[in-house]
Amino acid sequence: MTSVAVLSLHTSPLALPGVGDSGGMNVYVRELAGGLGRAGVDVRVFTRRWAEDLPERVVVEPGVEVVHVAAGPPDLAKEALPPVVDEFAHGVAVDIERRPVDVLHANYWLSAVAGHDLKHRIDLPLVSTFHTLARVKADSGDPEPESRVAAESRVIGCCDTICASNTVEAAQLVELYGAEPTRIEIVPPGVDRAFFSPGDRAGARRALGLVDRPTVLFVGRIQPLKGPVIAVEALAAMRNREAQLIVVGGPSGVDGDEEWGRLLEAVDRNDLRSRVRFVPAQPHHVLSTYYRSADVVVVPSRSESFGLVALEAAACGRPVVGAAVGGLRTLVEHGHTGYLVDSRAPAEFAARIDDLVEHPARAAAMGRAAAELASGFSWSTTSARLRRLYADLALRTPTRCA
Ligand code: UDP
Repeated sequence: MTSVAVLSLHTSPLALPGVGDSGGMNVYVRELAGGLGRAGVDVRVFTRRWAEDLPERVVVEPGVEVVHVAAGPPDLAKEALPPVVDEFAHGVAVDIERRPVDVLHANYWLSAVAGHDLKHRIDLPLVSTFHTLARVKADSGDPEPESRVAAESRVIGCCDTICASNTVEAAQLVELYGAEPTRIEIVPPGVDRAFFSPGDRAGARRALGLVDRPTVLFVGRIQPLKGPVIAVEALAAMRNREAQLIVVGGPSGVDGDEEWGRLLEAVDRNDLRSRVRFVPAQPHHVLSTYYRSADVVVVPSRSESFGLVALEAAACGRPVVGAAVGGLRTLVEHGHTGYLVDSRAPAEFAARIDDLVEHPARAAAMGRAAAELASGFSWSTTSARLRRLYADLALRTPTRCA
């Protein structure tokens, strides 16, 4: 049986996604761990102990255990974590020495740094999924510290395999970091179609207590990178004056609270209080009802390595109006499953949303095409790919540092 240590230093797969530092990566780690466990892989997910009273180990389902590793005081912000990476790696090493694993799979650059240390300490192959890359964020106006860029470059030079979600991310790894193309595997995330599937719109609105009128949905962490203010400004710029916007998610990151303030300010300035509803972060599977309630899902991110929200919306048969960036370019087929907007101008998003609201037959056809596109993604396929990858790597000699 293959066994894997999944490193998820900065955020736990047990946390509620959509607020704070919890988002797509939490869903990815949780779903993959489950899929791998069901496929017979022995999975241990290591995350930093973020509260005093957490048990050391939580068995999540057969074959999947979450281990809380003490590293620094519990309540550290993500930005304060680099100095505790060594302590985290040490805690993981102690556990692995007691019960060995065949491969390490690190998520996000902080875990990748810990994984790199462990790889050399214990002589294990390292798989990394970066989720976001500092140089990609910098290109879209969200610079990250140079120390992160240097750390990512170092680890990318030594990973046995780097998982990219799509061809766009693979190209970014090569162009921006000089990654060795033969060590990149394209492993797209999935979507749980037992929950995220098309369903009755009017029924979903009733279930959520929403007024039955054209509905635009934004789902995600409230931070500038996700562009929630653009969603509000787009509502204000629409020709349709009846439409409502539902915003699901909570503040995230150092500028999350400020962005929340800007969001409320945009609602007031445009006199939209009666047409915007804010909903706190929801348990992942509950979101399917929100997607079904919508006519259009808007994803105006500045950058997006994959964009699970766009995939979940598509799986629920809803067209997406998304920014033409990163993974969204591979998840939205322009004019077929939704629209890609190559601009940050709210009016451009508004025009596309109006088009779908004004042409329900077109929107329905796009929704069907979106569901068809989403049917190509599943966590079980993703897990199966990773299971084979781990088994191959376990037989090979780990790569050395460049
Ligand atoms: N999400 C959730 N509840 C919420 C808001 C978001 O479960 O209230 C989930 C959403 O379903 C998606 C993930 O958080 O799976 C966000 O992933 P995405 O790739 O869109 O963005 P990221 O957070 O990784 O930047």
